[in-house]
Amino acid sequence: MTFKYIPGIPLVHPVVDRCNRGFWESINNHVLSIQRCQTCGLRLHPPRPMCPRCLATNMGWEPSPGRGVVHTWVNFVYDRAGYPGIKCPYAVATVELDEGVRILSNIVEMDPADVYIGMPVEAVFTDVNKELTLVHFKKRDK
Ligand SMILES: [Zn+2]
Repeated sequence: MTFKYIPGIPLVHPVVDRCNRGFWESINNHVLSIQRCQTCGLRLHPPRPMCPRCLATNMGWEPSPGRGVVHTWVNFVYDRAGYPGIKCPYAVATVELDEGVRILSNIVEMDPADVYIGMPVEAVFTDVNKELTLVHFKKRDK
């Protein structure tokens, strides 16, 4: 079993604002980008308008190789508990990227029952429809 959308059920799209626009524009080009403070260098995710360390507001974007490990995860196995439009079972995971930030996503291209903490993963991009591309993660060899 792998991650599948249910055709015909609309998905909620992200609200794109000035703070996260760089992230979503990058995802649309199949590149994972992480926000980085241009003053102190702190990497952030999710995007924020101000650096929590130095309070600067000059935030920039840095491409990420998209490699990391599963920090934690949960499997949705019952259709009534899952997200509308996504076929159960599927895994939702917090992935800790090599850059040190964590990102919430889905683990795809494998049985969700086989996901484990510390599993090495890499980013893959899913064009859900013409307006929506999402970043997911799949297991990788070390
Ligand atoms: Zn900063």
